Amino acid sequence: MRLFEGKVGLVFGVANDRSIAWAMSQALRAEGAELAYTHLPGESSARRVRRLTEEHAPKLVLACDVQQDRDLDGVFRRVAETYGAIDFVIHSIAFAPPQELRKPYLETSREGWHLAMDISVYSLVAVARRAAAIMPQGGSIVTITYFGGEKVMPGYNVMGVCKAALEHSVRYLAWDLGRKAVRVNAISAGPMRTLSSAGVARFDEMREHAARKSCLGRNVEFRELGKAGLYLLGEMSDGVTGEVLHLDCGYSIVGL
Ligand code: NAP
Repeated sequence: MRLFEGKVGLVFGVANDRSIAWAMSQALRAEGAELAYTHLPGESSARRVRRLTEEHAPKLVLACDVQQDRDLDGVFRRVAETYGAIDFVIHSIAFAPPQELRKPYLETSREGWHLAMDISVYSLVAVARRAAAIMPQGGSIVTITYFGGEKVMPGYNVMGVCKAALEHSVRYLAWDLGRKAVRVNAISAGPMRTLSSAGVARFDEMREHAARKSCLGRNVEFRELGKAGLYLLGEMSDGVTGEVLHLDCGYSIVGL
């Protein structure tokens, strides 16, 4: 019996085969999960995500801009019509205008700050509220954060402030949804080469530094994201909520 046989999950944040959400989806599918996917509206996103996910034979691949309540309502309505209830959600989404990441945090514009917060933080609240409504037996929601939300990582700037807010949102959501047996956790992943990380200034420097300083002497691997997802989204972590799991080869515990 596979770990996720009979379980249904909704995935936000697959852009390509380097996406963290894809690493998690691959592991979940291998364990028998039924997955529904979303992508940003637009023909090219739709084509890209449909082509990538077709090996999982998803019943639903739906357009959703998390800034649009109408899109979110539509996604959750279709998921409820198709499956009735779901067991888990992957929220693996962030965005900041590239120019905001190229200048000091001090120079962040009001518009850039609001946009980054809306997509990278508020979207978790908006998703969790709708997801909990179709998790009558309880469920698990996982988002992805980074150490730049705990400590200053030069170049991460407004996104670091978003991650701090995201991590604390995880705790408040865990409280609000706990009595409904809906758990909310975050994985704080070490630096991975993805589409999003290409926009972060000094990213290669971050990776080199992380590998050198971490306990394991290397960076985290793609498949390790999948394994952590299996843990936090499944029964093995039934008593865990409001937690930020550091998946960083021990980088964050070293005081160098
Ligand atoms: P990714 O593959 O680029 O994934 C980011 C996803 O967010 C993409 O699918 C993107 O869609 C989507 N997105 C952006 N704006 C959206 C919106 N308004 N509505 C719906 N979806 C939207 O990069 P990733 O590295 O896997 O990022 C996933 C998460 O991991 C992010 O929260 C990131 O901060 C976090 N994280 C990444 C690292 C790392 O080193 N890569 C480390 C720690 C944490 P499009 O591509 O179609 O725009």
